[in-house]
Amino acid sequence: MITMRTTSAASTGVANQQDEPQVHWDARFRTAKGREVAPPALDVPVADTHAHLDMLHHPALALARCAASGVDFVVTVVDPTEDPGYTYRGLGEWEHEARGLLDGWGVRAPVPHVRVIVGCHPHNASKFTREVEQRLIACAGSPHTAGIGEIGLDYHYDLSPRAVQREAFKRQIALANEMVLPVALHLREAHDDGLAILQEEGMPVAGTLLHCFNLGFEVLAPFLKLGCHVAYGGPLTFKKCDEVRDAARRTPLERIVTETDAPFMAPEPLRGTVCGPEDTVFTAARLAEAFGLEGREATKMLTRVYENAHSFFDRDTSSWQDNPKAIRRLATKATGVAGAAGATAAAAAVAGGACATPVGGGVPDAPSLGATAVPGAAIAGAPAPDGEE
Ligand SMILES: [Zn+2]
Repeated sequence: MITMRTTSAASTGVANQQDEPQVHWDARFRTAKGREVAPPALDVPVADTHAHLDMLHHPALALARCAASGVDFVVTVVDPTEDPGYTYRGLGEWEHEARGLLDGWGVRAPVPHVRVIVGCHPHNASKFTREVEQRLIACAGSPHTAGIGEIGLDYHYDLSPRAVQREAFKRQIALANEMVLPVALHLREAHDDGLAILQEEGMPVAGTLLHCFNLGFEVLAPFLKLGCHVAYGGPLTFKKCDEVRDAARRTPLERIVTETDAPFMAPEPLRGTVCGPEDTVFTAARLAEAFGLEGREATKMLTRVYENAHSFFDRDTSSWQDNPKAIRRLATKATGVAGAAGATAAAAAVAGGACATPVGGGVPDAPSLGATAVPGAAIAGAPAPDGEE
């Protein structure tokens, strides 16, 4: 028997988890009505380039399900206005627990490779203080961090004033450029302004991924022209979303990746359930179908899509991440205190640890700023409650 050491929302203080539905400790897929559905038979591994593992009740179970379903690479999102340390500290344990589950199921597949992206979500832009920026820099310095995101604009919910969203977005583009890290964009009902800002600020040097694309090709075209990658998730599978499938068909194959946005946006036929990163297999299958591909052709296409995810988000550490002095320099600037006093403040903070705990294979993290910045500041923003972030 496997002893589960699951972490409850109450004990971690992560405020943004949904009410826990009935949990099945297996790797089967079930519809909202509880009917079991067989996953598509895919000959290729699949990547989820955008999941919020920290919002799931059982991240380890999600990782085990991924392994059992053929999802072997997961990019998880953290927000420095919430509790990024929960993920950086938890990851090693989640992987360990996932291994235990898989052994119990008799599944030999390896636990998925996980990378982290960190960014202040536009919902939380009004909480993007200097302290938060320092925390973001500390997290970005970790070798587990693969990019800056999700950042951008959300004019649907307007949870932060639009002018404030634009400033936080611009600032984080500038940071991503200094860090030589790619950017994951969240744009909702704000594509024109998003585009304008990208053009004004210049395209992020290490690449830009438009996350959760759910509109038509006419909205997408200018982003493709700027060189963006595009992530297709649940909406690609929704019955009414022909325009999304049309946009996907017209996206250069080398720019397409798959994702979920778990726990949101579960793909068909799982719509209405709490989405897990393992659900990406349904989206991948639908993507090949949208291209009219089957068998070997589908495999070839999905192999390319999988490789795109790795080349975008599973790079070696950036030149900035490899340079502790550069990390400290950026942190010093973020204190807003000039000269020696700022350097002293940043150096004092570097001894901390919000994001510093080694995870995964025990790779030591870069210097972190967390400890002095964190107390009292964590767990600020909850995501929009309506099942779409
Ligand atoms: Zn998201």
